[in-house]
Amino acid sequence: MKIARIVHEGKESYARVEGSSLVLLEGKPGEAFRPAGGRIDLAKASLLAPCRPSKALCIGLNYRDHAVEFGLAIPSSPVVFIKPATALLDPLGSIIWPELSKRVEYEAELVVVMGRKAKNLKESEALDYVLGYTCGNDVTARDLQPKEGQWTVAKSFDGFMPLGPWIETELDPGDLEISSFLNGQIKQHSRTSNLIFAVPELVSYLSRVMTLEPGDVIMTGTPSGVGPMARGDEIAVEIEGIGRLVNRLA
Ligand code: MG
Repeated sequence: MKIARIVHEGKESYARVEGSSLVLLEGKPGEAFRPAGGRIDLAKASLLAPCRPSKALCIGLNYRDHAVEFGLAIPSSPVVFIKPATALLDPLGSIIWPELSKRVEYEAELVVVMGRKAKNLKESEALDYVLGYTCGNDVTARDLQPKEGQWTVAKSFDGFMPLGPWIETELDPGDLEISSFLNGQIKQHSRTSNLIFAVPELVSYLSRVMTLEPGDVIMTGTPSGVGPMARGDEIAVEIEGIGRLVNRLA
């Protein structure tokens, strides 16, 4: 099932994507979704980022080819940083160029959305706590990202975390095609089977660090081919079985 978050009659609402329509739902991540009665046209809906995370845990250097691209060693444990909730951006929302940066780059990523409160999970049970998966762009001010040291500034500007267009709940994350397109031209192309640390391992590891709440997200890292954007560019992240997340740099 594909679950979208939308604005309906001025209020936040969840809905199930069914062909070209949205079936309105009651509930939210962490609760059972049930039909609320009512259906609207998908083409006319304003889609929001599909969840509202209390925190976004992001994995750096999680594709072998991306670590090689940056001349960095393959990590022996996950490289973790956090994006704040204020970085969240809706599908079709504009990424605003921060005045502190001269180089803003895209990073296409598979994003895990948590469905249940999780603490100290074993790898074998980790996927039971996942609601589903969405597309994400770990937008990065590359000139502000030191090779060694903290990445918070480079990764945390408002709007530097576009997510969407919805959460796919019935998907095996083990071997999905992932791509990014800059103005329609393919820039990144890989498969999630190339992840150094796969989804169950990441969920288990992070749950042993901190409690994961329903709606929290894990951005699993980006493949090689990252690069800069210019003002006015359209950036799209596409993942097999989920869909396409499109944003523009303003
Ligand atoms: Mg990244």
